[in-house]
Amino acid sequence: KRDQEDREKLQHAVDEFDLKAEASTKFSTLPLSQPTTSGLEASHFSNLTDVQAQAIPFGLKGRDILGAAKTGSGKTLAFLVPVLEKLYRAQWTEYDGLGAMIISPTRELAVQIFEVLRKIGRYHTFSAGLVIGGKSLREEAERLGRMNILVCTPGRMLQHLDQTAGIDVDNLQILVLDEADRIMDMGFTSAVDALVEHLPKERQTMLFSATQSKKVSDLARLSLKDPEYVAVHEAS
Ligand code: ADP
Ligand code: MG
Repeated sequence: KRDQEDREKLQHAVDEFDLKAEASTKFSTLPLSQPTTSGLEASHFSNLTDVQAQAIPFGLKGRDILGAAKTGSGKTLAFLVPVLEKLYRAQWTEYDGLGAMIISPTRELAVQIFEVLRKIGRYHTFSAGLVIGGKSLREEAERLGRMNILVCTPGRMLQHLDQTAGIDVDNLQILVLDEADRIMDMGFTSAVDALVEHLPKERQTMLFSATQSKKVSDLARLSLKDPEYVAVHEAS
């Protein structure tokens, strides 16, 4: 009951959060849950990078995002924080199945995202898994059914959606495409299209890339609804 009240208060704070006010520069000024706040603190993240300051408030409010900012600008937290918060506010549990899917172009990047998720998500109770191949499809599938958050590569994820019964995506709340430009450059466009076909239409989608390429806006047109454009330009 107490817990429920806290979540309602948090939701209220998110709804009231003023997007037009001067951008926050610290995580502590954003309406975040206690588990996320503690996870960020324990990981020594206190100041927001530019892309985080611009994207996280919209992400928290459930908006679709098309974000472009160069490598090293902190895009990972720009999507992981809204992912954790959305599932927390929805009181997501193991019985709710898959709540968030994060697609990365390569195994290495997927592993990196997963490690950041484990760090900042350590005080949450969600289950999270990597779907990047390396194990048999069946072994992977057995674990998938119990996951709340998956970090995956497009080809492998599509294989599961097409071929195994281990995964139920009907409740999915958030889809993230990280390094969307590289996903396209590596020839995964049709895999991502096919993957998105499996997902519920009613969901939040965040798409991040290092560049603003024509190909990325094509992908955005397919998967984003009235997106907020976030672009961080290099200082000249
Ligand atoms: P990108 O995905 O844009 O290339 P990353 O999310 O990988 O960037 O972050 C790049 C580096 O910056 C990482 O070492 C990360 O730990 C660090 N970093 C990200 N956000 C912050 C922050 N708010 N404060 C301090 N360091 C940060
Ligand atoms: Mg990145």
